[in-house]
Amino acid sequence: MKAIRVQEFGGPEVLRLGDVPSPQPAAGQVVVRVRAAGVNPVDTYIRSGNYARKPALPYTPGTDGAGTIEATGPGAKRFAVGDRVYVAGSLGGTYAEQALCDERLVFPLAAHVSFAQGAAVHIPYGTAWRALFHRAHARGGETVLIHGASGGVGIAAVQIARAAGLSVTGTVGSDRGRKLVATEGAHHVLDHKSPGHFDEALALTGGRGFDVIVEMLANVNLARDLGLLAPGGRVVVVGCRGSIEINPREAMMRDASILGMSLWNASPDDLASIHAAIVAGLENKSLRPVVGQEIRLAEAPRAHVAVMESGAYGKIVLVP
Ligand code: NAP
Repeated sequence: MKAIRVQEFGGPEVLRLGDVPSPQPAAGQVVVRVRAAGVNPVDTYIRSGNYARKPALPYTPGTDGAGTIEATGPGAKRFAVGDRVYVAGSLGGTYAEQALCDERLVFPLAAHVSFAQGAAVHIPYGTAWRALFHRAHARGGETVLIHGASGGVGIAAVQIARAAGLSVTGTVGSDRGRKLVATEGAHHVLDHKSPGHFDEALALTGGRGFDVIVEMLANVNLARDLGLLAPGGRVVVVGCRGSIEINPREAMMRDASILGMSLWNASPDDLASIHAAIVAGLENKSLRPVVGQEIRLAEAPRAHVAVMESGAYGKIVLVP
């Protein structure tokens, strides 16, 4: 089969299409015929070789994907050949025509959800769900600021929080993103390129502050986020690309919490619970993954450049 192979860590140009043997499922495994693979920022960090997780070379990138069941291994009984599914990780990478998966990390894809949308589910929606509910313990009636609402995780967080009855404020960096985030359910949308947006955000809460902040760029925003928290507020650090100085007194005065969050730390039980909820949300249409660009698998280098550019607008997926 065709797959993207990385022979050495480096820039986007190290993503090259090659031929590898088709995977064979062992006990408890399935092979998924990949119809679309999700592109996430973390794929670029891993490819660069500067990330905590370093796969053995050569490797095929990709955690997210969707398609149909191609083959099932001994004892794998959850799916039949031909079933539509999305995956939450694979054993050999999803930037390929076929992906070998533990069947426990494969989930049914409702008929009205496209394969491209299915490829946009696991990391974005899993992260948003875990940040809001498993870490911040968000509840209906609370206020949430989604700082970076136009990206993959942000759109997911907007839809999830809105469906759970929170009052949702999202921030964006482009007019196109503003329209998207409002359409997907944010009650208020602010521009994170404007220095005044912190004051505007606080004003939206009548000066009380937000119960929850989901932060996509903590190295830029965390210090000022603390001043936006309500008493007992929680900020969840989802994205961070450097260091920042904060005044811990801001947290102290509010009984506030700064919570780290990595989806990689989710236990199998956590993932089962998260995906049970996501599958239900896809079925009842409260969750509607937004795909911004579909790019041919062979053009994976272009996708890795695009995913790191500003002006986010829905997910980028690769099509084998
Ligand atoms: P993405 O689709 O590339 O979106 C990036 C988002 O950040 C966009 O909404 C972008 O808005 C926004 N942004 C840009 N400048 C900002 C600023 N000054 N303040 C606030 N937001 C700003 O990425 P993603 O997939 O949503 O992921 C977001 C971040 O979370 C990435 O750093 C990613 O690595 C990380 N992440 C972490 C986990 C985890 O487990 N902790 C899981 C998934 C993702 P505009 O483009 O509209 O300006």
